[in-house]
Amino acid sequence: MKRTVLIAVTSAALAVAARQDEVAPTEPQWWKGNTHTHTLWSDGLSAPELVVDWYRAHDYDFLVLSDHNHMQTEERWFTVGDDRLQPEHVDELKSNFGDRAVELRDWNGHPQMRLQTLTELQLRFARPGEFLLIPGEEITCNYRRKTESGFHDHPIHVNAINLATTIPPRGGDSPADLMNAIVRDVNEHASTHQRSVLSHVNHPIENAALSAQDIASLTGDRFFEIHNGLRSCPSQAEGDDPSIEDWWDEANTIRCEEPARPLLYGIASDDAHRIDGEPEVQAGRAWIVVRSPSLDAASLIEAMRKGDYYASTGVDLEDIQVTREAYTVDVQEREGVKHRVKFFGLRQGETEVQILMEGARDPAVYTWRGDEVWVRAKVITDRPHLNPQHADEVERAWTQPFRRPAASTDGSEEPGSAMPVEGSDGD
Ligand SMILES: [Zn+2]
Ligand SMILES: [Zn+2]
Repeated sequence: MKRTVLIAVTSAALAVAARQDEVAPTEPQWWKGNTHTHTLWSDGLSAPELVVDWYRAHDYDFLVLSDHNHMQTEERWFTVGDDRLQPEHVDELKSNFGDRAVELRDWNGHPQMRLQTLTELQLRFARPGEFLLIPGEEITCNYRRKTESGFHDHPIHVNAINLATTIPPRGGDSPADLMNAIVRDVNEHASTHQRSVLSHVNHPIENAALSAQDIASLTGDRFFEIHNGLRSCPSQAEGDDPSIEDWWDEANTIRCEEPARPLLYGIASDDAHRIDGEPEVQAGRAWIVVRSPSLDAASLIEAMRKGDYYASTGVDLEDIQVTREAYTVDVQEREGVKHRVKFFGLRQGETEVQILMEGARDPAVYTWRGDEVWVRAKVITDRPHLNPQHADEVERAWTQPFRRPAASTDGSEEPGSAMPVEGSDGD
């Protein structure tokens, strides 16, 4: 019986995969998504179908389920009565999705519920051009360092997006070595399976997992979280410590030293472990918006590698343009909401990143002076976040750092009216 179901799901999965690939390219448009989400398949507190349903119902266009060291592929039964799955949760699933959508069994006197697989979730929720469910994993490793007072654990977590199969955790010789080894594993996976796979380093500040210098050494891809929605992953260790944004700027400044390397791009994500109930809903705090011609994983990843996306905690952008003349950010106006755009940048011959321009004009246009190495923009509003990660949080957005086009040493693509390609993703 079960085998029949799984075979049916497998052939249906092929149909879903084909459907998802069949999306006809159109003019590039913005797609909103969260790349970091947990479910009952690892340490999340919510059933996977509730999680996916929440994001789809809240107008996300794509979602990556990134359970720890696990993809949602096999037959897995979860005990009803566990802290994370009480009978009332099962009732809620039945009332949301129908009795037939919830599969239960008795296992030696204990009721169990089968977890929905990624394929089943894709079949139920994915729609071409409307909602995409991308396979992923949070590759979750730990580097244990001996200290005078005992041990310090460095949680080195890297999300891999659009995987074919699970990548196992591994060890390394240092936190930075481990981070880079995981990214290398992901790139080998991409090459073996001939598919676009993107990795991003998660919450580097948590438990002093990595330093700005470690982040600067990132090789093989260019993404890390500059904002993580979990309250246990603040963007600043404490008080006056450098923030994760300071690290971002410091790492990119280091990467401009010879030999210059591609600038690092910032991701914002929920890292949601709970999407409903008390004490806190962790979904909807932070996301990315990617500009690509179609809603499929390869297109989204290609756009992200060009920096054609932004991270947000509530701000929508109309447009981002980087040309030989200017770096322009056009914010979507909202009634009663004020915003300012700050352009941060590194000037030639300097080692400190500065605010090069700040203002409330819309669109915000930063005209290149000619002495910049790179510039990025940040939008800050006066609107309090509805579900804040930290006290007094207001809605913000971050665009990616771009080198001044005339100074580009890459030469492979000339910047035009669209985003220039800076560096390459081949490092
Ligand atoms: Zn993590
Ligand atoms: Zn996580």
